[in-house]
Amino acid sequence: MKLKKGDEVQVLSGKDVGKRGEVTRVLPERDRVIVTSPQLINVVKKHQKPTRATMQGGIIDKEMPIHASNVAFVCKDCGPTRLGYRIGADGVKIRVCKKCEADA
Ligand SMILES: [Zn+2]
Repeated sequence: MKLKKGDEVQVLSGKDVGKRGEVTRVLPERDRVIVTSPQLINVVKKHQKPTRATMQGGIIDKEMPIHASNVAFVCKDCGPTRLGYRIGADGVKIRVCKKCEADA
């Protein structure tokens, strides 16, 4: 699991493909991340009549668990990309963008 909380990610598959959101939780044991974004289509359709509250709406943050392989990390310089690691001088693994090799 290379993703961490606070990362911006883009969805790679499913009906939310292309949408972006923020990782708000990481579920390493399930290899999934919770992505929060007002753009997401909520996966679970609740059998519930629209309430006055939701009709008034505005921006509602939606979230769903997505398998880590179905999202791409979004580098602020190159957009959706892959993550790698380099070993810093002190032997610590540093997460980097695979395209521009900037620390991520
Ligand atoms: Zn980059």
